[in-house]
Amino acid sequence: MVNIDLHSHSSISDGVFAVPLLAARAKANGVEVWSLTDHDEVSGVESARLAAQELGMRFIPGVECSISWAGHTIHILGLQIDAATPVLVQGLQRTRSGREPRARAIAAQLEAAGIAGAFEGALKYVSNPDMVSRTHFARYIIECGVCSRVNEVFQHYLAEGKPGYVPHHWATMSEVLGWIAAAGGQAVLAHPGRYPLSDLALGALLDEFKQLGGVAIEVVTGSHSPDQFQYFAKLANQYGFMASMGSDFHAPEESRVDIGKLPPLPTNVKPLWHDWF
Ligand code: AMP
Ligand code: MN
Ligand code: MN
Ligand code: MN
Repeated sequence: MVNIDLHSHSSISDGVFAVPLLAARAKANGVEVWSLTDHDEVSGVESARLAAQELGMRFIPGVECSISWAGHTIHILGLQIDAATPVLVQGLQRTRSGREPRARAIAAQLEAAGIAGAFEGALKYVSNPDMVSRTHFARYIIECGVCSRVNEVFQHYLAEGKPGYVPHHWATMSEVLGWIAAAGGQAVLAHPGRYPLSDLALGALLDEFKQLGGVAIEVVTGSHSPDQFQYFAKLANQYGFMASMGSDFHAPEESRVDIGKLPPLPTNVKPLWHDWF
């Protein structure tokens, strides 16, 4: 069984490790096939490819794109992309340009909720100025001593409906699937178990994703429980999707699963990588 991890974040988005350190951790944990999937950003792909090559891992260029769908934020992975594709690079650039104004609005709302200096505070954790994310705010709020865990910060401040939540318009599903297709990539629905959707709405999401060219859904991810591995394996088969897996690793103290430490896919699904090597 190959150790494959197709979802991870470096400090270029909201992970804590720079690309070479993340690659080294993947290798140390036994990863043989690795994808870097930073949020809305592909600038780490070339250094990740080099690091993987030096360490003797297969590398799959990737990205995790934020979209808005029916009022929800949904994440779509593009894997096996050509990261130099102008349509993709420009589309992602446009997506990222919305993050700074959003971050200022988040900071203003946090200020009203009693947490001062959050914009500058979050920026201290950012290494890529146009990639300020809620995770960076969460780290600052922990630094302030208001909460002790990232998950707790989301529950009290940053999740939908909480005082620091700012609704945002990301790209559409059809735009993002267009960029991924233009880059020769495969579109994968990230952590489907994490969205607050009814069964009916989840069905509509899967139908539309399929219709627009999506090929796989994440079945085994750090965001799913073992019951959800089975449930999403069943849905993958029902909708004709291949199955993907990835830890969604961000940081040792924050992530439920370390890079390369997931259990294997259920055996009744078709792995996304069945024809890759
Ligand atoms: P953003 O793209 O700025 O909306 O931030 C989204 C990121 O926040 C996700 O990629 C996760 O890394 C993190 N996140 C979202 N919800 C939670 C949660 N409940 N607990 C911990 N991290 C979360
Ligand atoms: Mn993240
Ligand atoms: Mn995600
Ligand atoms: Mn992710």
